[in-house]
Amino acid sequence: MPQNNRYDVIIVGGGLAGLTCALHLSARGKRILLIEKNSYPSHKVCGEYISNEVLPYLATLGIDPFQLGAKKIDRFQLSTKKGKSLTVSLPLGGFGISRYAFDNYLYQKIVETDRVIIDSVRDIQFINDQFKVRTQKGHWALAPYVVGAFGKRGNLDHFLDRPFIKRKTPWLAIKAHYKGNLPDNLVALHMFDGGYCGLSKVEMDSVNVCYMVQSEKFKKFRNIDSFQKEILYQNPNLDEFFSTASMIFQAPVAISQISFQQKSQVEKHVFMVGDSAGLIHPLCGNGMAMAIQAAKIFSDCYLTAEKEKWSRNQLEKTYTHRWNAAFSNRLRIGALVQRVFLNNTAMDVSTRILQTAPTLVPKIISRTHGKALA
Ligand SMILES: Cc1cc2nc3c(=O)[nH]c(=O)nc-3n(C[C@H](O)[C@H](O)[C@H](O)COP(=O)(O)OP(=O)(O)OC[C@H]3O[C@@H](n4cnc5c(N)ncnc54)[C@H](O)[C@@H]3O)c2cc1C
Repeated sequence: MPQNNRYDVIIVGGGLAGLTCALHLSARGKRILLIEKNSYPSHKVCGEYISNEVLPYLATLGIDPFQLGAKKIDRFQLSTKKGKSLTVSLPLGGFGISRYAFDNYLYQKIVETDRVIIDSVRDIQFINDQFKVRTQKGHWALAPYVVGAFGKRGNLDHFLDRPFIKRKTPWLAIKAHYKGNLPDNLVALHMFDGGYCGLSKVEMDSVNVCYMVQSEKFKKFRNIDSFQKEILYQNPNLDEFFSTASMIFQAPVAISQISFQQKSQVEKHVFMVGDSAGLIHPLCGNGMAMAIQAAKIFSDCYLTAEKEKWSRNQLEKTYTHRWNAAFSNRLRIGALVQRVFLNNTAMDVSTRILQTAPTLVPKIISRTHGKALA
C-alpha cells in the first residue's frame, strides 16, 4: 500500500465543521486529508450570521473574518407575520460573512499545507481497526480515524444506514444576496405564513436573504417569485425590504429535506462533527458556531486520546459525552422556540409579552448560544 495514501485522520466534507477540524489538527502536526464534493468558492443556503462566541477560538487558528469584510452585528429585530416588531441588543453579538467567502478563505489556508481532494465520497469501510474511504472518481485513502463532516443529509447517511434518513422532513430553504436597505449591525427575523426569513448584511455591503418554509405551503405556488409575492410580502417589513431591493444572484439557491431529527455523534466508528451530528433550528442563528465548536471538541478529544493512549471506545464515549454536554440543551430550546414561532397565536402573544419585557429576548437567545470559546 503506498505510504502517501495513509493519513492520521480523513475528514469527509469541507464545510465549516470539516475545514475547522482540518485546520486544528493540521496545526498540531497531524497528517490529514480533506475530501469535499464541491469546488470552492460556492454559495450555500445559510443565514450567514455567526455568533461571536467562536472568535477567540478562530483567532487561535489564525482566522480573522473581518479581514474579509465581515460586518459586526449587535442588534436583533423580530417581527410577526403582521409586521409587529421589536428590536433588542444581542447579548454576545455576531458577524455577517458569506459562506462563499468564509469557506473559501479556510480552504485556501488548508491547501497551503494539506491534501484536499475535490470529489464525492462514495463509501467508508471499517475493517481491522482501519478505515478505507473511496470517492466517486476512484480515489481512495486509509486512516485509523474518519470525521464525518458532510452536513445535514446526504448519500453517506444512506450508506451508513442512519435511522433519521428514512424519515421525510417537511422543510425547504431558499437564499440569495441583494442590494438593499438594512443597517450593517442588524440581523432581522421576519415571520410569514409557514416559515421565517432572516436578513443580515455580509461583506461587500450585500444583504443575505434566507428563508425556511414548510414544503407543503411552498408547493402551492408556481415558483419562488410568486411564493415571495403572495406570502413573504404579507409581512410589511419584508414587503418594504423587497420593494427597493434588487437581487445580485442570477437565481436564488435552494435546498430541501432539512432534517432536525436526533442523530448519533458516532456512527459505525465515524465521528460526526457539525450538522451530521445534529442541526439546531436556523432561527437560533447558532448552527455555524456549533459546527466550529464541535470541530474543536473532536480535535481536543482526539489529541488527548493520542497523548494518553485512550482506546477507541474511550474516545468515542468521551466525544459523545462532551458533544451532548455542549449542545443538547441548545437543541431542545431551539426546537421549543421554533414551535412557538410557527404557531400564529403563540407568536402574537409572545411578541406582546416580549414587547413589554424586551429584556427576556437576550435571555432566550443566550439559552440557544454558548459562551465565548477560550
Ligand atoms: C436555512 C438555513 C439557515 C441557516 N442560517 C444560519 C445562520 O444564520 N447562522 C448559523 O450559525 N447557522 C445557520 N444555519 C446552520 C448552518 O448552515 C449549519 O449549521 C452549518 O453550515 C454546518 O456546517 P457543516 O460543516 O456541518 O455542514 P455544511 O456547511 O453543510 O458542510 C458539509 C459539506 O460536506 C460536503 N459533502 C456532503 N456529502 C459529501 C460527500 N459524500 N463527499 C464529500 N463531501 C461531501 C458538502 O458539499 C458540504 O460542503 C442555517 C441552516 C439553514 C438550513
